[in-house]
Amino acid sequence: MSESSEAGARAEQAGAPLRIGGFTPDDLQIAGLVPLSTVDWPGRFVASVFCQGCPWRCPYCQNSAILDPKIPGVVAWSAVEDLLSRRHGLLDGVVFSGGEATRQLALLPAMRRVKELGFHVGLHTAGAYPKRLETILEEGLVDWVGIDVKAMPENYEQVSGRAGAAEKAWASLDLVLAHPEVAHEVRLTVYPGGPFDGLEVARELKERGVRAFALQQARAFGAPEGFEAKGAGWDDQVAALARDCTALGFDSFEFRPD
Ligand code: SF4
Repeated sequence: MSESSEAGARAEQAGAPLRIGGFTPDDLQIAGLVPLSTVDWPGRFVASVFCQGCPWRCPYCQNSAILDPKIPGVVAWSAVEDLLSRRHGLLDGVVFSGGEATRQLALLPAMRRVKELGFHVGLHTAGAYPKRLETILEEGLVDWVGIDVKAMPENYEQVSGRAGAAEKAWASLDLVLAHPEVAHEVRLTVYPGGPFDGLEVARELKERGVRAFALQQARAFGAPEGFEAKGAGWDDQVAALARDCTALGFDSFEFRPD
């Protein structure tokens, strides 16, 4: 058992508020709470918690308004617990999304609390913090991970806007794949003017053992000002890529066009 899980276990035994590494669920900076989503965790009815802040700057980010880590949350953790107390039997679980949810250390006690309340836990991540993701996986805090893989390593900086992102993201993918007890979906979002190395990415994912893959066409909604989601012949190009991805034979492949 790691130091943080020992600390959590001690707190639970003592009946004290759940605290891991000095953080409690109340410390989670939440930018938004969606009481019911049928799409954030495919096949499940979930509440979605949007965590404030992300270290990366993808040109197509659909949640570009909540990327600044200095902005505090606007939803109290108690609102999540209130919602869950009214939705037993109606919700399967909670998905922590963002922003980048693993940016916040309070994510761990929040996940543990959701499990303690009897709900499943899902996570959306771009893999920016592999060590934290490893702790989450090792401690059994998550049942499903939707993880973004944005490009081949040599093109990652172009998409994420940050040097060093490739190593973190691909290492995070390998961590998820090392935990077959945790269900996953790997997502690739393509956009006009992007590297368009999607087929190469998809082949690499298949090679590494990815079972569930989704190809997403970037949308203008929620993206930074000036982002163009359409271009001449773009829809046809993406549809052709989707056909090529289908042929790779993932256990599950979903195409999400614009
Ligand atoms: S990693 Fe995700 S949340 Fe962060 S900027 Fe990129 S798309 Fe947005």
